[in-house]
Amino acid sequence: MAKNDRVDLSHFTLRQIIEMEACTRCGECIETCPTFAEARNEEIHPLQKINRTKSFWKADHLGLLARLFGIKPATDEIWQDFSKGVYQCTLCGRCHVVCPVQIDTRPLWISLREMLVDRELHPETMNRLRDTVTTNFNISGDPNENRLGWMANMATPPEGLDRRENAEVVYFVGCVAAFYPMVYSVPQSFTTLMDRAGIDFTTMGGEESCCGFPLIIAGMGKDAHNLMRHNIDAVRATGAKRLVAACPSCYHTWTDEYPRLIGEPLGFEVVHETEFLADLIESGALNLKPVDKTVTYHDPCDLGRTSGIYKAPRRILEAIPGLTFVEMKDNREQALCCGGGGDVEMADAEVAKAVGRTRMLQAQETGADLIITACQQCKRTLLGAARANKIRMRTLDISELLMEAIE
Ligand code: SF4
Ligand code: SF4
Repeated sequence: MAKNDRVDLSHFTLRQIIEMEACTRCGECIETCPTFAEARNEEIHPLQKINRTKSFWKADHLGLLARLFGIKPATDEIWQDFSKGVYQCTLCGRCHVVCPVQIDTRPLWISLREMLVDRELHPETMNRLRDTVTTNFNISGDPNENRLGWMANMATPPEGLDRRENAEVVYFVGCVAAFYPMVYSVPQSFTTLMDRAGIDFTTMGGEESCCGFPLIIAGMGKDAHNLMRHNIDAVRATGAKRLVAACPSCYHTWTDEYPRLIGEPLGFEVVHETEFLADLIESGALNLKPVDKTVTYHDPCDLGRTSGIYKAPRRILEAIPGLTFVEMKDNREQALCCGGGGDVEMADAEVAKAVGRTRMLQAQETGADLIITACQQCKRTLLGAARANKIRMRTLDISELLMEAIE
């Protein structure tokens, strides 16, 4: 049952309300949606979500006038179906690219989730996520002081990784890299590369908290504010000039959400791993040997469509001698999602897996030996899809590929 009777329009900006009214019902967004393509649930695609939302608020706020236009109050069943579709969306933003009126869809879908949380119509798994993150300061529920557990099996871990004072760069590791052994190789590779290039860097060790992204996209952004403020204070206290994130979702949260929360600039620069590594290569700080392989590249949604970073990873790939790079059919702004976004793994794991399978099949079509990405969550999802579907293709983060080029 809904907690509040009326839809609270304060969940939406004026721009979002205007955008929903501007939807022309052209349907361009329907077949471009990777989760709708797999689940065929009408409640997922943008046109239906916008129609539903407008009818909810019009039924609530226009009263008799709404009835005259044939808009009836929604039943609990309709709300439940709507909630299911909203939480099956990976927030990949592909619908925005094709929308002729340029509706900024991704933030709109997060606003819908905030509305559903307000009405207590969100999936129960999101409550568990909130409890885990706010209690343990990470998404896995492990003790947070174990954030540098990935160092344990490094032959020669770089010195000063754990909260060294006065380092120029702070590497924000992120929960996925810190707590999921399947991708420990990403922080291992990235820190080794920075060490080889002579970068003066450290991490926040157990002082790092989840960046807040999983709660923001669950529609529970307010519950992330303490974590976010903690991280800002902790990085500012180090005096670092730069923060580098290998996770595109952490990167987006630091560059977009954090300054908005505190209403002022952070006081240090935030860069993504791909920009950082591309600059290191071009400055001559990393010498690359030939890699005789054919690779394709998966654009992570939060790096590409959300943050606009398409060139940096391609600069790296083009700088590796001997490497052959082939694009997938859907690349850059059109790239398919890996299925790992939007907390869908928690809301509907089968849909997430199906989306990942489609992306891996697209990678396989290129004939490449490897699929490269620049996101730990994409690596996890694509690796899982390759294994589940017996697709013989290695999945590497771009830092892992560079390790092959320097060794
Ligand atoms: S953000 Fe992606 S998954 Fe969600 S509705 Fe748009 S295209 Fe579909
Ligand atoms: S593409 Fe844009 S305008 Fe067309 S139906 Fe989808 S949301 Fe509406």
